[in-house]
Amino acid sequence: MQNIQMCDLYGQYLTMKDEIDAAMQEVIKSTRFIKSGKVIDFEAKLSSYMQTNVVTCGNGTDALQMAFMGLGLQPGDEIITTPFTFVSTVETAVLMGLKPVFVDACEETFNMDVLQLESVITSKTKAVLPVHLFGQCANMEAIMRIAQKNDLHVIEDACQALGTDYIFSDDSKKKAGTLGIIGCNSFFPSKNLGAFGDGGAVFTNDEKLAKVIRSIANHGMKAKYQYERVGLNSRLDSIQAAILEVKLQHFEKHIKARQDAAAYYDTYLQGLDGLAIPQRVSYSTHTFHQYTIKTDKRDEMQKYLAEKGIPSMVYYPQVLHLQEAYQFLGYREGDFPVSEKLVKTVLSLPMHTELEVEQLEYIVEGIDEFFEK
Ligand SMILES: *Cc1c(COP(=O)(O)O)cnc(C)c1O
Repeated sequence: MQNIQMCDLYGQYLTMKDEIDAAMQEVIKSTRFIKSGKVIDFEAKLSSYMQTNVVTCGNGTDALQMAFMGLGLQPGDEIITTPFTFVSTVETAVLMGLKPVFVDACEETFNMDVLQLESVITSKTKAVLPVHLFGQCANMEAIMRIAQKNDLHVIEDACQALGTDYIFSDDSKKKAGTLGIIGCNSFFPSKNLGAFGDGGAVFTNDEKLAKVIRSIANHGMKAKYQYERVGLNSRLDSIQAAILEVKLQHFEKHIKARQDAAAYYDTYLQGLDGLAIPQRVSYSTHTFHQYTIKTDKRDEMQKYLAEKGIPSMVYYPQVLHLQEAYQFLGYREGDFPVSEKLVKTVLSLPMHTELEVEQLEYIVEGIDEFFEK
């Protein structure tokens, strides 16, 4: 049996090596490295997959910042998100002079607790920023309803949920990241669709906004050397685009491989006393950027598994409102009890497209032994 990895990027590459190598060589030969060639091809293909406008950019963090910039949010404006997520949302908001306001996460889904949303809306609130954590959508219909009622933008952090379908109550579907005014995505190597470096994308159904964001990503340029707004230099480069274009062709198969691994975990872990498998919701598919269980014996379990050669990771080991850098926001321990509990109980198991049944067997056996000991 191969060594078990948390995320097997090289193994996955080997399954597409010839295609990827050829695509990279093509870019090198063409010397169309920036804003041309494969970037344009990939944007068109992703746009057709997502059924919306796509503007690629340097990374998911820039995508979030450009969402704020594109919507014209101003210093002092408030945005609502959760403290149980990756740092980017809060970081970019603060850099833009915005004030991040938190609501707690939901213990079962790890996503924004919509029941708390209305209570933190003020006259300064401009946007709600749900994060589709670990690959399953937040309760978007509820969020959109509240946003609409209060005249707020909905910006989706879909960085972990590319390929996930939101399922509306009438059974119609849309891709995660295409429901709100803007969706943000990351092509960080370990994400659902990962580059061999950094990359990101912004999704929007609004043509005008897509144009604005495209201009922001390119120094705020209107025509060559004419700048209509303050912008950034945020680009996906052609080598990454070439890799992503190849991987997009295999994307459905890769999502299925993640879902199959998750189904295996489910079968053998559900009913284990002391462990909770990830809850599914009726309004979203799950693409398992992470397969995250909960247990009160988290640290012990992680150590036990590590001794057996089974890697696991804690996403996330600390809530954002208690991080040193964000103390100035004025939150205290106890403010978001669910999130504060989750950082002590969650554990993500190995999850990637190349997991073999033999490996999955070994992992669930290890977990079984730990709970039976
Ligand atoms: C990965 C990620 C980001 C940031 O993406 P980068 O491409 O690393 O900048 C933002 N939000 C969430 C939830 C993420 O998982």
